[in-house]
Amino acid sequence: MKRTAVRRRVARVLSKRAAVVSATPNLRAEIVAIGQRMSASGLSPGKSGNLSLRVDGGMLITPTGIPYQEMKSADIVEVRLDGRVAPGQRVASSEWRIHLAIYKARPDVGAIVHTHSLNATALTCLHRGIPAFHYMVAEFGGDRVACAPYATYGSEELSRFALKALGPRHACLLANHGAIAVGETLRQAYDRAAAVEALAAQYARALAIGRPRILSGREMARVIEKFKTYGKQTEVKAK
Ligand SMILES: [Zn+2]
Repeated sequence: MKRTAVRRRVARVLSKRAAVVSATPNLRAEIVAIGQRMSASGLSPGKSGNLSLRVDGGMLITPTGIPYQEMKSADIVEVRLDGRVAPGQRVASSEWRIHLAIYKARPDVGAIVHTHSLNATALTCLHRGIPAFHYMVAEFGGDRVACAPYATYGSEELSRFALKALGPRHACLLANHGAIAVGETLRQAYDRAAAVEALAAQYARALAIGRPRILSGREMARVIEKFKTYGKQTEVKAK
């Protein structure tokens, strides 16, 4: 190819990329900011974990292989609902299939955070979910946070297992791997990822000193019902 043709081709790719980036600048910056917070807080070590946000017709997701502290808005990858990626973008996180499968199956989900957080991951190495050992498990919309069976990272099989373990709830674990939390917003998904890790730490500690007593299904149903109105009493009515 002649030099001018190459230059023209590069310009075309770059302008396409610029068009994709400029369409969603704030959302991309938000993903980078929360990714950096996740990394700095130690919630997911090294380059592990990934985050995504639903956008019209697809999702924005963190790229693979770039340290969070070096990540820029332009590195965030837009993946369409059919899995296609516009040219000129970075390579999407290897777990993009899980994210896409969740957005397709759960219209209520607007954002997803996947971590390899320490205690949650330790439990997954025992293929152990988090049962109702504490009433706060109800915060995830059910009486447990289930653990999906093991499958190779990035595989179609893993996305199927993850979807099943998630069910209608807000979080699940992945065997020998890590945790997934979902929310309406990225902030909510992130807070839930941190909450899963806190519960996993408490459960692991309880397992280390004895046999945790599990709350009954009836009690958890009561707590789930109470959570539906929790915090709403303090809402100030707008004039
Ligand atoms: Zn992972």
